[in-house]
Amino acid sequence: DQKMKCDTEVVAWSKGVIGNSEQPVVISGPSGVGKGTLINKLMKDFPTMFGFSVSHTTRLAREKEINGEHYHFTKRSVMEEEIKSGRFLEFAAVHGNLYGTSIESVDVVADAGKRCILDIDVQGARSVRASSLEAVFIFVRPPSFEELENRLRARGTETEEQIQKRLRNAKAELEQGKSPGLFDHILVNDDLEACYERLKNLLGISESKNFAPKTPSKVFDLPVDFTLTKVSE
Ligand code: 5GP
Repeated sequence: DQKMKCDTEVVAWSKGVIGNSEQPVVISGPSGVGKGTLINKLMKDFPTMFGFSVSHTTRLAREKEINGEHYHFTKRSVMEEEIKSGRFLEFAAVHGNLYGTSIESVDVVADAGKRCILDIDVQGARSVRASSLEAVFIFVRPPSFEELENRLRARGTETEEQIQKRLRNAKAELEQGKSPGLFDHILVNDDLEACYERLKNLLGISESKNFAPKTPSKVFDLPVDFTLTKVSE
């Protein structure tokens, strides 16, 4: 058995800071896990430090989404052409739509002297891993599948059919999140504030020492190459 088991407490306290302050940060995880909320908080609290890589997508904009800010909303035919012409660092079909990171969207952030944050799916993370972009990779997972389902429903931004599709994909994505060597760290989003503190800790910007997870007894599988340094005794 190649997998190691340990509890969230160890996960939370394990790696300390990952990467250096110039490396882009790829954040992946299933739909509804709270990646977006974590990223928004980071952007709001540290606007001069971090910049969001605005992806392209062929899905329709949600009510409060702004073109050019949350996504560049694009026609499928246009995006397919742009992919062919090499404009994208990575792209993937997610929940039936195309999503992709243009080279430009990452460059814009770097040119502004900020650390780039990418919110992309696991397929995209794999492509970036294989690219020349030397990023660090964080996977956000829910404390349980049931909890993910609850959150996705509570969000109320998708139809039942879309929710079902996202839940099916989440199962696969949670499995892929364990791929050896793909992610540098797994964050369990058991409690938003605590998880945010742990994210800041990973990124080297934490002022707080109070980020112990709420559910330290839960057991999770971790990637094989995970180095565990138990800080608490
Ligand atoms: P949503 O439709 O909820 O905004 O995003 C659905 C999924 O697409 C999320 O898992 C998100 O991380 C992923 N995603 C967003 N932008 C990109 C991108 O540029 N590339 C890839 N590969 N996935 C993306």
